[in-house]
Amino acid sequence: MKIKKQAFEHWSVDDSSDIYGVPNWSCDYFAINGRGELEILATPGDRDSGVPLLDVVNGIKDRGMNMPVLLRVSNILDARIKLLHTSFRKAIKQTKFQGEYKGVFPIKVNQQQQIIEEICRFGEEYHHGLEAGSKAELIAALGTLQDREACLICNGYKDEEFIDLALYACRLGYQCFIVVEMPSEMNLIIERSRALGIKPLIGIRMKLSTRASGQWTESGGDRSVFGLNTSELMAMVDLLRQEGMLDCLRLLHYHIGSQIPNIRDIRAGVLEASRVYVGLVEEGAAMGHLDLGGGLAVDYDGSHTNYHHSRNYTIDEYCVDIIDTVGETLNSKGIAHPTIITESGRATIAYSSILLFNILDATRFEPSSIPDALPPDCNEMTKDLMNILKNMSQKNLQENFHDAIYYRDELRILFKNGRISLRERGLAESVFWHIMVSVIKEVKKLKYVPDEFEGLDKALADIYYGNLSIFQSLPDSWAIKQIFPIMPIHRLNERPTRNAIISDITCDCDGKIEQFVDLHDERQTLPLHELRENEEYYLAAFLVGAYQETLGDLHNLLGDTNVVSINITGERHYEIVQELEGDSVADVLSYVEYNPAALRDRFKQRAERAVREKLITPAERKAIMTAFENGMHGYTYFER
Ligand SMILES: *Cc1c(COP(=O)(O)O)cnc(C)c1O
Repeated sequence: MKIKKQAFEHWSVDDSSDIYGVPNWSCDYFAINGRGELEILATPGDRDSGVPLLDVVNGIKDRGMNMPVLLRVSNILDARIKLLHTSFRKAIKQTKFQGEYKGVFPIKVNQQQQIIEEICRFGEEYHHGLEAGSKAELIAALGTLQDREACLICNGYKDEEFIDLALYACRLGYQCFIVVEMPSEMNLIIERSRALGIKPLIGIRMKLSTRASGQWTESGGDRSVFGLNTSELMAMVDLLRQEGMLDCLRLLHYHIGSQIPNIRDIRAGVLEASRVYVGLVEEGAAMGHLDLGGGLAVDYDGSHTNYHHSRNYTIDEYCVDIIDTVGETLNSKGIAHPTIITESGRATIAYSSILLFNILDATRFEPSSIPDALPPDCNEMTKDLMNILKNMSQKNLQENFHDAIYYRDELRILFKNGRISLRERGLAESVFWHIMVSVIKEVKKLKYVPDEFEGLDKALADIYYGNLSIFQSLPDSWAIKQIFPIMPIHRLNERPTRNAIISDITCDCDGKIEQFVDLHDERQTLPLHELRENEEYYLAAFLVGAYQETLGDLHNLLGDTNVVSINITGERHYEIVQELEGDSVADVLSYVEYNPAALRDRFKQRAERAVREKLITPAERKAIMTAFENGMHGYTYFER
């Protein structure tokens, strides 16, 4: 009775906002409107500036593109860069810090040309620069960055070619820092700068003893593979002094890892680095720049905690803590304040990309119906199961759960020994699943859920089939169980009556999502709406702008998705700035060394042989070849 009543109770968009945690993770870039549609807000928090994602999806479809689509929203990227700089400026003012702040975007976090170009354009006002970790990234940066007041930081292992390019960049007037990652690079830098007659801007990457907790923070600590330890650092200083080049040592760099959830670790890192900075100045190095690397975390689950998918600080706190710590440490030694550089990738780019996909089908979990009374010749244990079902209550929940599993297992043994019929086994299993459904209903009312019930929710969940490849579009969800907020973008004024996990269209059993955001804990199922006949149901995965695009792979030969970039122009209007068609079947086949034309020719011969053997008519051959060609040039995803 209770469930029926619930279904008729009013459901509001605020309830949807709550269960999907929108206010917690959206940073005010997204909100649900009165019609139950999720909107992108052009101005964070301004509900009058919203454009419904469903309108964008329909607009994309009207223009002839299919789902899945990776949607990039320029306004959000612009807002993120602004936020970073205004927060640092506020902190600098508040603490009377004498230096300035300059950010750089690490290209590895999203290398796509359009992204790097937009970052340079939106960042120009703040002299936002780029960080390159390889020759290819440096070349991309040199061809894109115009602002000569912006920094260009070269990390990564460097050969002569890499160093020469960086030196030429200095000659052209770029603030291009060559960061020494291992001692042997220093000799090469000295040698090449002499040979080319260019004075280098040298940085040194150090290993901090500070180690951050979190999933991606192996880069820090004494055992880190990158950077110089203290004795190596001193050897570098001696070498530069001996070469008369201490004035070229201009920057200290460290990076203790990405997605640092705990502000204490950030503060500890800055403090240690500030002390090292003081030491280098005291040694006579010119310095002037302190580069703190990345690490500024994204609150993926919206819990605002030090859980590894979250962070227990705001951007404002991050900035104040950094500026304050550097300022105080240097003041105590009377040393001039440096330019502060950070290399925030994730926090800059994650919010602006959204993966849109439709649901193709759903498998419902529904135990088949059972008769009111069992056949009289049933086994006693089947009858016991039925009694459990009829006498369920909160009080004997755990006992009933254990008993049901016991009887089910015993009945299976009886079946294997030929003692009960296939029909009775089927009946008993249905009763068993009805018991599990009752158990989960009661469990949901409990404040504290005993461990043994975990996973039951998932076992009883529906499977919704999403038109996407997790390996291509959300690789971290598969590889490191990264959580991304996922939710429907419409029908949010309706109660979601199903609980589901999401499966993709690869035929890999790992191609599924069964971890979703929840304020208190991770949840294993996602509340979703009943599918309707002849009506698409759209979901979106959020905060996917960082790391996912290039890490994605061609599992099952599902290729790059379509990409659409929009700019919201005000008055709830959006324009498409760029559209990139995803891979066709021919594209992905050629990535794995097939020759599409040769494949077609061979298939054509095959069809001709069928004509000869009178298996098909020449007209049928034409129809078959058209289907083959269409498939070859079509999208790799499901098309309706
Ligand atoms: C990966 C990386 C970054 C980016 O870190 P985020 O946590 O994404 O901001 C910055 N600097 C270096 C050296 C890196 O390797």
